[in-house]
Parts: sequence; C-alpha cells; structure tokens
Amino acid sequence: MTFSAAVLTLYPEMFPGPLGVSLAGRALGEGTWSLDTVQIRDFATDKHRTVDDTPAGGGAGMVLRADVLAAAVDHARALHPGAPVLAMTPRGRPITQARIRELAAGPGVIILCGRFEGFDERIFAGRAIEEVSVGDIVLSGGEPAAIMLLDACIRLLPGVMGAASSGCEESFEEGLLEYPHFTRPVEWEGRTIPEVLRSGDHAKIAAWRKQRAEDDTRLRRPDLWERHRGVRGQPASGARHDNEEQGQ
Ligand code: SAH
Repeated sequence: MTFSAAVLTLYPEMFPGPLGVSLAGRALGEGTWSLDTVQIRDFATDKHRTVDDTPAGGGAGMVLRADVLAAAVDHARALHPGAPVLAMTPRGRPITQARIRELAAGPGVIILCGRFEGFDERIFAGRAIEEVSVGDIVLSGGEPAAIMLLDACIRLLPGVMGAASSGCEESFEEGLLEYPHFTRPVEWEGRTIPEVLRSGDHAKIAAWRKQRAEDDTRLRRPDLWERHRGVRGQPASGARHDNEEQGQ
C-alpha cells in the first residue's frame, strides 16, 4: 500500500526538496509513498487571489484566512479520504516518535503549512485538524516542519530502510536516547573504542548499551527519563530496581 502525502502550501516548489534524494527519494521513485502538493492560493476567491488578511485586534503580520484554508483542506480530504489532517504550528502538540509510528502505519497524511503569523484560529474549530509542533522553535513557515515530519514517517515504511531492524533500537523507541556508536579506527587521536564493544561478548555488549542509554537519557534528557521511570515504575514491571542497581 502506498503512503500518500498531501502538502497544502503557498510554496509547492519547496517539495519534494530533500525528500527527493536518498532513502525518501528512492522510495518516492519506487512508489512506496506518493506526494501531492496543493497550492493554497488556488482556493482564494477574489481576483487578487488573496489568502491572508491583517490580524483582528491589530498587531504585526498577516493571518491565513479560514475560508481559503477550509476550501483547500476539503479539496485535499476528498482526494485522500481517511488521511488525518495535521497543521504545522508552534502552538501544537509536540510531535513524538510514537505519533510518527502511528502515522506511518496509516494511509498517509495531509499537512497544512502556515506562513506569516499563522492561521485564523477558527479553522481548528471548523475542521478536524491536529495541531502539531516540531519543537520549541519558530520557523518562517510550515514547509520545513512538513519535510521533517514526512521524512520521519517515510523511513519507517516497509522496505525503505536497508536493515529492517535498525528502526527498533533507536532513540525514543524505548522512551530512551540510543546508546553511543563507535567505528574504526580502534584508536583515534589517542582515544580508543570502549573495550567491551571489542570483546565479542554479546550479552556484555547489550548490558553496556542498555546502561549507557539509561545514563545518557538521565543526564541529557531528564524529561524523558522521568517519563520512562514513570512508565516502568508501574506495578506491571517489577524488575526496575534490579536493573538500576546493576553496574552503577
Ligand atoms: N505567530 C506564530 C508563528 C508563525 S511562524 C506563533 O508565534 O505561534 C509561521 C509558520 O511557520 C506557522 O504558521 C507554522 O506553520 C510554521 N511553524 C513555525 N514554527 C513551527 C514549529 N515549531 N512547528 C511547526 N510549524 C512551525
């Protein structure tokens, strides 16, 4: 089944952009996923093809009109029935790897890209749209956010990644950051690869990696660590303390 992406944008020429090369580009060529762009301006109704207007209440910038956006969303929805509509906005719920996995397992996505000051808020009351943020930063438009989100979905589609297993052990999949990697040369500028990784003892290597994933998450991402502990601390998993004391 093809994962179908539709991107609603004022700048369709930004696509496929980076998604046209490497893994995503090959998968696009092979039909693993498809991409439609919808020019939001095509849904303007006046002769100047206006998509925005000044903010009610005053202030800087311009706001995308709800009526124009709704017409574009309705059009995309008719072409991609069953695909969720996601609007890119810093006001949205931060995207997670778990949500990316759900999306990648579905029929596709319709992504609405903002520009200027963003969207007339009434679009979110008038249409079923999930507001999504790609992080606590402000971009100049939703297009790079859409590319990010699609890239994360596409690499999970069956057949896209070389080694099928490489998606499972990565950062966030277990609620932890991934352990660090090393490769040859064994010694570089006086620094060597940790001995255990050269031991050939798979059980020891797995234990070392698990420990590093936990330590690094605790130090670098206390937010993730707290959540991970919360989940594992629930009655269903009693093994937590044994693991934690091991190798400290
Ligand atoms: N005035 C808005 C920012 C608008 S930035 C505010 O302060 O919330 C212009 C557009 O860029 C947004 O409409 C959105 O589509 C996109 N954008 C900016 N930052 C983003 C983020 N962190 N995640 C997703 N989209 C973002």
